[in-house]
Amino acid sequence: MRILVTGGAGFLGSHLCDRLMDQGHDVLCLDNLFTGRKSNIEHLLGHPRFELIRHDVIDPFKFEVDRIYNLACPASPPHYQYNPIKTTKTSVMGAINCLGLAKRVHARVFQASTSEVYGDPAVHPQPESYWGNVNPIGRRSCYDEGKRCAETLFFDYHRENGVDIRVVRIFNTYGPRMNPDDGRVVSNFIVQALRGEDITVYGDGSQTRSFCYVDDLVEGFLRLMEQTATVGPVNIGNPGEFTMLELAELVLGKVGGRSKIVHRELPADDPRQRQPDITLARKYLDWEPTVPLDEGIGKTIEYFRGQI
Ligand code: NAD
Ligand code: UDP
Repeated sequence: MRILVTGGAGFLGSHLCDRLMDQGHDVLCLDNLFTGRKSNIEHLLGHPRFELIRHDVIDPFKFEVDRIYNLACPASPPHYQYNPIKTTKTSVMGAINCLGLAKRVHARVFQASTSEVYGDPAVHPQPESYWGNVNPIGRRSCYDEGKRCAETLFFDYHRENGVDIRVVRIFNTYGPRMNPDDGRVVSNFIVQALRGEDITVYGDGSQTRSFCYVDDLVEGFLRLMEQTATVGPVNIGNPGEFTMLELAELVLGKVGGRSKIVHRELPADDPRQRQPDITLARKYLDWEPTVPLDEGIGKTIEYFRGQI
């Protein structure tokens, strides 16, 4: 197939491009390189089945394709808050442009949504049926509400125009090719530990997240895209739930060195807890994560050791 991956030079997108190339597809990687890096896809550049298109999803695009994976959007809080209006535009206009293209060329289109649609969840763990608890006017809203609106557009194009959609809600994912400067907790802690700097735990560190290794996540993407039992939304994430203090201690234990844990102010609207209910992923995709946090963190540390 010919497959378009928006955001394909980013952390998740580059791993998805790798898997699609391994499967023998033609891959068009569309990216404006805001948070993505050419180095993530360097090994694919020049391959006859791979093309990098430097373009912004806000502006319309046309390609004859069979599948569209829409991943273009900065994902780390410092990056999506850097230009919040642009972040909302990227989610909303990017969704409209992908859906318009899918409608025109009869492609199946996949939206990378997020556990952020659940906001600071009052239901725990979070099933897809939970409508969420999102502040519409806070610092995180440009991302959360942009992604919620994108889901709305996907379902309206599906109901109104019969567009063949798939929607995944991704929970925190980590692994090689995370940007060392992007401010997310796993990359921050590992880079700080490797440099012998203090480990910055925001707040008292009792807030929780559930961390999925990138290879598991991409397997879930492919299974969701190529099955026909559900259009989603389907949660993909690892149900193992850890406090940020536990994560800091795990990283410190593995890297060794002289870093100390220090506490910094908790950002506004930081969700208290997050854990995916993956009943639907198990049922429809026969999917569940296979890489435990301890093992995945080890692989990620090795990657960053080679980077810095
Ligand atoms: P990332 O920042 O590494 O990748 C995003 C990619 O999109 C980058 O290559 C960036 O340059 C590109 N991009 C951003 N704005 C663009 C625009 N306007 N036009 C074209 N390209 C643009 O982040 P990631 O972790 O790989 O996330 C990929 C997708 O998955 C995002 O949509 C994100 O919201 C979603 N997601 C990720 C996680 C996670 O834990 N990694 C969790 C939930 C959702
Ligand atoms: N966090 C932290 N130290 C850091 C970066 C993040 O304690 O250096 C915390 C952050 O406050 C949040 C959790 O780690 O509670 C996950 O943050 P991240 O930005 O990775 O993802 P998100 O909040 O979007 O889930």
